[in-house]
Amino acid sequence: MATAETLPKKQRTAKEAAQPSGCDLKPYGITVEDVQRNLSPAALYMEAIKGDVQCTIADKGALIAFSGAKTGRSPTDKRVVEHPNSKDEVWWGSVNVPIDEETFETNRERAIDYLNTRSRLYVVDAFAGWDEAYRAKIRVICTRAYHALFMHTMLIRPTREELSQFGTPDVVIYNAGEFPANRRTKGMTSKTSVDLSLERKEFVILGTEYAGEMKKGVFTMMNYFGPKRGVLSMHCSATADKKTGLSSLLFGLSGTGKTTLSADPNRLLIGDDEHCWSDRGIFNIEGGCYAKAIDLTPEAEPEIFQALRFGAVLENVVYDPDTHQVDFHDTSITQNTRGAYPIEFIRNAKIPCVAGHPTDVIFLTCDAFGVIPPVSKLTPAQAMYHFISGYTAKVAGTEMGVTEPQATFSPCFGGPFLVWRPAKYAELLAAKMQQHKANAWLVNTGWSGGAHGTGARMKLKLTRAIINAIHSGELAKSESKPDPVFGFAVPTGCPEVPADILTPRNTWADKASYDATAKKLAGLFRSNFEKYADRASAEVKAAGPTA
Ligand code: ATP
Ligand code: MN
Repeated sequence: MATAETLPKKQRTAKEAAQPSGCDLKPYGITVEDVQRNLSPAALYMEAIKGDVQCTIADKGALIAFSGAKTGRSPTDKRVVEHPNSKDEVWWGSVNVPIDEETFETNRERAIDYLNTRSRLYVVDAFAGWDEAYRAKIRVICTRAYHALFMHTMLIRPTREELSQFGTPDVVIYNAGEFPANRRTKGMTSKTSVDLSLERKEFVILGTEYAGEMKKGVFTMMNYFGPKRGVLSMHCSATADKKTGLSSLLFGLSGTGKTTLSADPNRLLIGDDEHCWSDRGIFNIEGGCYAKAIDLTPEAEPEIFQALRFGAVLENVVYDPDTHQVDFHDTSITQNTRGAYPIEFIRNAKIPCVAGHPTDVIFLTCDAFGVIPPVSKLTPAQAMYHFISGYTAKVAGTEMGVTEPQATFSPCFGGPFLVWRPAKYAELLAAKMQQHKANAWLVNTGWSGGAHGTGARMKLKLTRAIINAIHSGELAKSESKPDPVFGFAVPTGCPEVPADILTPRNTWADKASYDATAKKLAGLFRSNFEKYADRASAEVKAAGPTA
């Protein structure tokens, strides 16, 4: 057997490799001696498998991990410190629920006390924002190697030299998600609490091990500090033209296709979820992608499928105990199975993940009512109306036989992550789109031929053809007709898409039912927009449904 003496010099023993790697957490009140900073994916695999009975390796090499009871974000448990410096800037309400500084300190101390009970901690020091002018240094302190690998994957990985000069982080995440919040703490309504302090630039996680909380926490910080400097932060994916280097943005709520459609062999991938638009162009905030894994197949999504290999993290998936082959159709743990992979695992990724100003801004919606056309061209006022509305629909669950789709409106297609009022982001977007003459489009990746239950989800192949036609400029040249209910211009032809599906009414067998459903959805748009009407210009207010 190899001993320390017989091993080649470079090959350290596990004990040596486990020595503290020079990260002093005492300034945070963390006294744990064994702190592992920026371990490699291979080392984190070893740690995860040793330290966590459930973690394992998939047949294709991804680390399989489980997030426990929470398999999605906990938006109602998010809290933001109400502080005199930022009090007037924050959009208070159900998205940003205030807590006082004392409560934040209580939860922070609770997290630190828990971290101090651990024999080993992991630290990930990495960046958010590919444009060095706007880059933030993020420090993650966590107890699970799976969480460390997740953030190593999702943040921008520093070079060895950048790491040695990392210095003081801008943002610190205390992830004590294995330990609950105390429900008797003021302002707590459950055992889960995700608390942000914009002043301390810190956030504390208690009572949820869903890794996406960390990623979206970083995004929320960027959503505060970006607009403060005139930089628009956006919940969108981005691709770039291979020749011009100019970009295109795909906005959309969860499940609308940002990640899927950005893995586009014809384009360079800039990022799949979070970007900023500055005077210098656009940049990705992240160093990785986080794809939905439900029903993933190598045929429909080859790029994403091949990226889920060694170095990637697969969350809450079911696998065969003998072969470790993953069953992407099995949703017995959750519908929200996910895979995180470094962006360079996508062959067309452009590194660094920055690109020129957008030529096209595309809003994705998954309309389960089946009345929004597969593609529409928007005027600047319509673009603002739809950006502020942020419409998509959820297919109701099977409970109690409910089959009606449910409309969801989430401003800026990212309501849960906004810090300022929606109008702040909308004004920045309008100004930038006008300055750079970006075209605006609304693309329905949802139902066609009828609502959910009667029709079917738009074929991915057709949506890809529509996106291609936007990027090639074909669709801008196409003739169009105004939608009788929503008013936007609906192209009458698109390469590689049957013309009859472009007008949804054509695809419904029951025209009266189409008319009633379209009217109903228009009404939902109108009543939702009322909350924003006092801040919107007359032009934008008039850009909603026309019938
Ligand atoms: P999140 O914000 O949660 O990351 P997302 O916008 O990135 O969500 P995707 O991960 O791209 O959403 O999910 C879209 C899902 O819908 C994928 O599972 C994809 O296979 C499926 N899908 C089916 N039809 C289409 C279509 N026509 N266009 C886009 N996606 C489709
Ligand atoms: Mn996504």
